[in-house]
Amino acid sequence: MTAISRNAKFVRENVILHNSFFENSIPLIASENLISPLQREMLNSDFNGRYAEGWPGHRYYQGNEYVDRVELRGIELAKKLFRCNFADLRPISGTVANMAVLFALTSPGETITAPALSDGAHISTARFGAVGFRGLNTVTYPFDSERMTLDIDGTARVLREVRPKVALFGMSLFLFPVPLRELADVFNEVGCTVWYDGAHVLGLIAGGQFQDPLREGAHVISASTHKTFPGPNHGIVLANPKDEEMEKALMRGVFPGVTSNHHLHEMAALCIALDEMSRFGRSYARQIVRNSRALAESLYDRGFGVLAADYGFTASHAVALNVAALGGGSACAELLESANIVVNKNLLPGDKSSQNPSGLRLGTQEVTHLGMKTGDMEEIASFFERLLVKKEDPARVRKDVISFKRGFRKLKYCYGEGYPAYRFERFLR
Ligand SMILES: *Cc1c(COP(=O)(O)O)cnc(C)c1O
Repeated sequence: MTAISRNAKFVRENVILHNSFFENSIPLIASENLISPLQREMLNSDFNGRYAEGWPGHRYYQGNEYVDRVELRGIELAKKLFRCNFADLRPISGTVANMAVLFALTSPGETITAPALSDGAHISTARFGAVGFRGLNTVTYPFDSERMTLDIDGTARVLREVRPKVALFGMSLFLFPVPLRELADVFNEVGCTVWYDGAHVLGLIAGGQFQDPLREGAHVISASTHKTFPGPNHGIVLANPKDEEMEKALMRGVFPGVTSNHHLHEMAALCIALDEMSRFGRSYARQIVRNSRALAESLYDRGFGVLAADYGFTASHAVALNVAALGGGSACAELLESANIVVNKNLLPGDKSSQNPSGLRLGTQEVTHLGMKTGDMEEIASFFERLLVKKEDPARVRKDVISFKRGFRKLKYCYGEGYPAYRFERFLR
């Protein structure tokens, strides 16, 4: 038998070190999560590396009998969970799902309306991201940075002025629901297709704890399936298409538009995640929102500049902090990392520099997945205070973080509850 090379060992050792870093850390990145043991089985299967171009039952390659069964079951699960008429499980990420929708519903040279990057939108909806790739122009909505949500009157005005074919909503710093109901009359008047980017909040929508875009005026949802939705790295498109033409356009947008191989192992894991969310989603999502409110409140009580303080801080998994007075987003995020607390710096409304923005973004979905409750959020807030306010030695705080995290290494809200979340499976010695 050939011995494992030094390079291969190096790679594996560093992956294991990464696992162990996260095992000993408090993960608060608002766009990340862990996956269940049954989903991990799917990722390890022969579905990896196969092709199944086309729609189930209408493929271009042979060998897809079982793939088709799985994907059709997943489509049914998605339609049921999100109460919609159309689900496409083939986009391989949220950005790819966005590109598929852009491909389907717009033509180069057109103008769409979208939220602004500095107000918390995602790069894929910006001119230098996927929107620009499609050759589109954007007009952004005015934002109410006190309430951390769209300025409704201003948004209505923009929609009436631009009369876009497609109006895009949804954020990466997503604290409160989009006021879709309030804008419903304007959507009708303008006749636009309403597109909701639910990458961050898909798990909350699935658990019935945020808003229900398809009941509130949206025609299409695109999303990642690995943020609050605790599935594999993948994407999804969900819709109540206006007509058959729109449904066909969405399908063509995904394939051949922006995918070939749709990562069948991830697709199978996504099917499991859809089923798990139909069982465990409600209690999981409810606890996420409880935890984010508790974290925000506890940080606020310790003097942190939590945004939207007059409006309940958050209605999602996310919490936004202004740390300009504590050295800025970059320095604070690095200091937290040195004590094994993982967050990201974030632009806040009014910020100019994305290299040193004034904010931190936190999310409670992953720690909730690991079983944390509101009392644990106070513990986390106290670590923030010790590090960023009291300037305690990070090495000392780190010790306490590691010992705190020992109680949270197993997954909840899935089949095989209690399975070690950070287990690394070695096939070779
Ligand atoms: C994360 C995110 C995406 C992109 O998702 P990926 O799966 O990382 O490609 C798209 N839109 C929004 C609003 C996001 O936050």
